[in-house]
Amino acid sequence: MSTPQKQHVIDPEVCIRCYTCEDACPVDAITHNDDNVVVDFTKCNFCMDCIAPCPTGSIDNWRVVTTPYSLEDQFFWMELPEQEEISDKDGGGSIEALDQSIEALLAEAHAGAGGKAIAPPSASKPTVNLFNLGNPAEATVQGNFRLTNEQSDNDVRHIILDMGGQTFPVLEGQSVGITPPGTDESGMPYLPRLYSLSSPRDGERPNTNNIALTVKRETNGVCSNYVCDLKKGDKVKVTGPFGATFLMPNDPQANLLMICTGTGSAPFRAFTMRRQRIAPESNANLVLFFGARTPDALPYFGPLKKVPDRFLHKELVFSREEGHDKEYVQDRMIKKAELISQLISSPHTYIYVCGLKDMEEGVEEAFETIASSAGLNWQDIRSELRENGRYHLETY
Ligand code: FAD
Repeated sequence: MSTPQKQHVIDPEVCIRCYTCEDACPVDAITHNDDNVVVDFTKCNFCMDCIAPCPTGSIDNWRVVTTPYSLEDQFFWMELPEQEEISDKDGGGSIEALDQSIEALLAEAHAGAGGKAIAPPSASKPTVNLFNLGNPAEATVQGNFRLTNEQSDNDVRHIILDMGGQTFPVLEGQSVGITPPGTDESGMPYLPRLYSLSSPRDGERPNTNNIALTVKRETNGVCSNYVCDLKKGDKVKVTGPFGATFLMPNDPQANLLMICTGTGSAPFRAFTMRRQRIAPESNANLVLFFGARTPDALPYFGPLKKVPDRFLHKELVFSREEGHDKEYVQDRMIKKAELISQLISSPHTYIYVCGLKDMEEGVEEAFETIASSAGLNWQDIRSELRENGRYHLETY
C-alpha cells in the first residue's frame, strides 16, 4: 500500500500496560505481547471507544502513513516513530486519501473525552466534503482584520472569504481546509490545515455568500502565516466543509454552554450570531466561558462586550491581567458552580468545549468537581449527554 492513511498507535513510553484499551476495543484491534500494547491497523475502525478508559493518554496517538506499521513493528518499539513526511504526491497523488486524513484529523479533534461524537438531534443536516483537494473552491479575501492588540505577540486575525458564485453551504461549528501554496523542504506540496468557521450559515451579514475564520499566527507555522498575511483581493483554495457533529441544535429553547480559549471562540461567535438572527427573543441560556491571557489578547473582546448580557451570559477570564490573580477557565467554572450544575441538570442543555488540547483536562476536572459537589456523577452525566448529541469537544 502506498496511499497515505491514518494509523492509530500507542505510545510505548507512556503506556502502563493496564490493558483497559484492549478490553474496551469492540473489534479486537488492540493486542499485546510481553513488551508492548499495539493496535492492528487492519482492524481499527477509529470508533474511539478505547480513548476514554486509558488512564495515561498513551492511546491517543496517530500517524499518517504510506505503509502502515505492522503488529511486529509495534511490538519492537521503544518509542513512537516520528511522523513521516507526507505530501499530495505520495501514493501516486491520492487526493482522496489525503481528504480522508482530514476527516481523521477532525475525528481526533472531536474524540476529546472519548466516544463517538453525535450531532444534536435537531441540528440541520450538514453538507460535507463538497470541495476536495482535487476540486477546491476558490475564495477571494474580502477582509483581514487583526483582533488582538498590535503590540502583543499574539496575532489573531478575522479573515473574511467571499465565495463568489460558488455554492458553499456551511453550518455553524463546521471547519474548512486551507492549503498553503508552495512546497515543503522536500519539494512536495503542503497539506491543508483545518480552520473553524466563525460566521453563521448565511454569512457575515445575512444572505452574503461569505465565510469568516479566526486564525492565530503560529511562529514558523506555514499555513497560519499564509492566512494571516492574506490581503484583500487575494485568491485562496478552500476545501470542505468538514464536520458533521460539532453543530448547534436548531431548537431555539436549547441552552448552550460554550467553553473556549483563543481561537476556540470561532464556532461560538457563529453560534451566537445564528441565535441572534433566528431567535433574538429566546429566553434560553447562552453561556460563554472564554479564557485568554489579557483582554487585549481575547479575540472579539470589543464586539463581545456589546452582546447584551440578557442574551449571552459572559464569563471572560484572564490568566495574565495586570493587578489580578491568575485565573483560568476551569477556575471560573468552579466559581460559577451553581450556574453550571443547573445547566448540566437541564435536559435542554448542550455543552461545547473548543480550543487548544491542553484546556481539556482542566475543564473535565472542573465538571467533575462541580458535579460531585452537587451530588451528581459527572461520568454518568457526560455519557448520557454524549449519547444524546449534547456534549461536544473540538480541541487541536
Ligand atoms: P505548521 O506549519 O503545521 O506548524 C505547527 C507547529 O509547529 C507550529 O506551532 C509551529 O510553530 C511549529 N513549527 C513549524 N515549523 C517549525 C520549525 N521549523 N521549528 C520549530 N517549530 C516549528 N487554528 C486556528 O488558528 N483557528 C481555528 O479556528 C482552528 N480551527 C481548527 C479546527 C480543527 C478541527 C483543527 C484540527 C485545527 C484547527 N486549527 C485552528 C489549527 C490549524 O489547523 C493549524 O494546525 C494551525 O494554524 C497551525 O498550522 P500552521 O501550518 O501554521 O503550522
